[in-house]
Amino acid sequence: MELYQETNQNNNGDNNQNQIEENFTYEERNRTLIVALAVREACDVASYGNKQHDWEAARRVISHNKLLTCSEKSMIINLLKCNQSICYEHPDPFNYFHVERIPCSYTNNSSQQDPQTSQKAPINYDENMFNITFHCDNKDLVLCDKAKKTFEIAGQIISETLILNTKINVNATFIDLCETDKERCKNTPFRRIMGAAGPARSIILRDDDGVDRLYPQSLVKQFRFKQHPEYGEFDIRARFNSKIDYWFIEDNSTIGKNQIDFLYVVLHEFIHGLGFLSAWNDKIHKALTPKILSNNLIIKNDNNSIENLYIFNGFIEKVFDKYIYFKSTNERLSDVITPQLQKFSPKKTFSIYEEIYKYFKESSEYYVAQYLYKLACKPSTLIFKSHDKKNITLETSLNPFSRSSLNHLQFSTYTRTKDFLMRPGVVAGRSIQYQLDKSGDYSGGPIGPQLKLILETLGYATIDHPLPYKPSPIYSININWCNSEDFTKTMKCIANTNQARLLLQIEESLIESLLTFIII
Ligand SMILES: [Zn+2]
Repeated sequence: MELYQETNQNNNGDNNQNQIEENFTYEERNRTLIVALAVREACDVASYGNKQHDWEAARRVISHNKLLTCSEKSMIINLLKCNQSICYEHPDPFNYFHVERIPCSYTNNSSQQDPQTSQKAPINYDENMFNITFHCDNKDLVLCDKAKKTFEIAGQIISETLILNTKINVNATFIDLCETDKERCKNTPFRRIMGAAGPARSIILRDDDGVDRLYPQSLVKQFRFKQHPEYGEFDIRARFNSKIDYWFIEDNSTIGKNQIDFLYVVLHEFIHGLGFLSAWNDKIHKALTPKILSNNLIIKNDNNSIENLYIFNGFIEKVFDKYIYFKSTNERLSDVITPQLQKFSPKKTFSIYEEIYKYFKESSEYYVAQYLYKLACKPSTLIFKSHDKKNITLETSLNPFSRSSLNHLQFSTYTRTKDFLMRPGVVAGRSIQYQLDKSGDYSGGPIGPQLKLILETLGYATIDHPLPYKPSPIYSININWCNSEDFTKTMKCIANTNQARLLLQIEESLIESLLTFIII
């Protein structure tokens, strides 16, 4: 979150394609066949006599195959393990787009309660459902104590608005960010970073439109699936700069004109941590895409060198993105933009993750991302549509697009309204109480009516909306290599792995004819 003033790249690999195809010799076709047969044999072994696939046995078969080279063996074994992770850890709230794939298996709900009966269980609305693990490095213990209390008050306010059935664990730090991260303090005095928070872990769930999206762990917990992916220790990670001139409620004084209401900042950031975040970002240059999912392939070459390769595995939205619409046409981004971007299908591997974006820039899908970028830099173009069909205007006034765009409500629209909290900046000298007084009476406090609708739409229950939408868990998205369609994918994967040495690029029709040959 930033302080606001009240006034406020050509890598055309395809050129080589024809040359490669011409060089595609009989011997190389033969190697493809050997690899394909080895994969088919491994698949047969894996599924032999078992309902559960025995991939360990499959890997042993590959390891003992004398016809395969060392790099082919290592590549196939990696592909057999090539299952998609469904958990993503966000270690740094300031860099939410940096994620680490975390293997997480499904476990039974330990505090197993039947979701039907648990709905009827009495809920203590006064209970603070936020567990704060607090770390403060400031020598001023009074300041540390005031900061800690503010985190607790923020948790209490949210607990009184939402019906949370499972506690939310927050890792909160209050530290001198300028000491620990000098780069971040190069901001101008008016745009000093105060803090940031975000989900500590995101989990892929399947939505009712058949699309898989990233959900914040805090929300996944509230769904109380009988079986759920392994949870991380924390749901929200928050870091705040202790070197800002904050004002605290318990100061019992009027807020100074340069002071920032710390509760305002913490509440705002907690809401991001609960899932008020979009995956759309400008990672290329003036072009918006959701986050890229990729699989890692660790290839051991014949000379024992290790190579880390990335395979593009599609774009993925966050739960928030499911509800973003074009204001003018009432069309959903998920219906008209994302499917077009998903047609991007590079037939190659990448040595670094960022290369995928560069390659995307050369694709025919790039113009779609550019189109969206232009729109996302014009005011009042994109809206969040709530469960009761209300249009809530997202921040699209910023040009160039910034991390504040789309992740907030439009500043100009919601200033002096009850929905001031999720505007992209906080104004010095303006406390929450001041904003509430200016916007008229509202019993919901700082969580305004539109914001409450957004949280309900994402899946949080409230008294007014006790049975929110619930997506489905994905119990297994391991790629089943042994059904013919996935076997085709396996072969494409192999064909796209230029480390295989047997093929650099291969025509899909060739793979299909090869598969026909093998499967028959
Ligand atoms: Zn924000």
